[in-house]
Amino acid sequence: MQTAIQQIQSELQGLYPKTEIKSFSNLIVGKLTGFSRTEIIVNKNTLFSDEQRKIVDSFIEKLKKFVPIQYILGETEFYGLPFNVNESVLIPRPETEELVDWIQNENKKKEEIKILDIGTGSGCIAISLKHEFRNSTVDAFDISEKALETAQSNAILNNLEVNFSKVDILNAPDFDQKWDIIVSNPPYVTEQEKTEILPNVLEHEPHVALFVPDNDPLLFYRRIALFAKSHMQLNGKLYFEINREFGKQTTDLLTEMGFKNTEVRKDISGNDRMVKAVISEQLSVNNFISD
Ligand code: GLN
Repeated sequence: MQTAIQQIQSELQGLYPKTEIKSFSNLIVGKLTGFSRTEIIVNKNTLFSDEQRKIVDSFIEKLKKFVPIQYILGETEFYGLPFNVNESVLIPRPETEELVDWIQNENKKKEEIKILDIGTGSGCIAISLKHEFRNSTVDAFDISEKALETAQSNAILNNLEVNFSKVDILNAPDFDQKWDIIVSNPPYVTEQEKTEILPNVLEHEPHVALFVPDNDPLLFYRRIALFAKSHMQLNGKLYFEINREFGKQTTDLLTEMGFKNTEVRKDISGNDRMVKAVISEQLSVNNFISD
């Protein structure tokens, strides 16, 4: 085990910061042995089998190619829960935990609510909300079959029930139901921003979950808001994760579309990252008439 740790450190030296390499070696050894950090220290003289050594070699090779560690291990953590991840879903981000936190804080007292997550990916938002709101019904859409399989595996992993459906929100059918909360972390990186993205993201994470055309960066927000107008309960709340460049444009769009109480929140790095809007009475009346 000690040899493996040394091998990880020497082969990755210079490619990643020292602290990151240390964390990789803890994660890799932890994955192979089931040991915690302290157990790793105590058991450092344990010998690895040939098979374990081969796995270490293959993980190092992938890290040299800047494959994200979460994809290499096939797992990560989000909002205190374990999640399976692979290249068909985005790796859950800490900013998205902040969005879940906002929803969790603001809706504490509500008992039986209906929640919909659009573009669920790994299912991290939907599953962690179901974990927080045990009495809620949680539905989740995604366009990608593979993402839905991963999300379903995560619901099983966490022993929580979420109803996943294959839906392309840009061509969504009508649903005969209304939700209290609709949440989405849709694709929001513009093609123009591609150059600023690190290779580990650009070369490994699914582009269908990341990119929007330069000429219509709010495409998903407009379409989801339109869907929400006819599929939300009165005073239903819409929550979005957003591109930090478009906080004002997103709230302006939602206000123009008739939503009220729009609010932008910053993430821990100080960037505009989340938006909330409430469906106004006016809208619901209109929907009722047009129904
Ligand atoms: N936050 C992601 C990133 O930094 C983008 C997520 C998204 O497009 N919804 O790449």
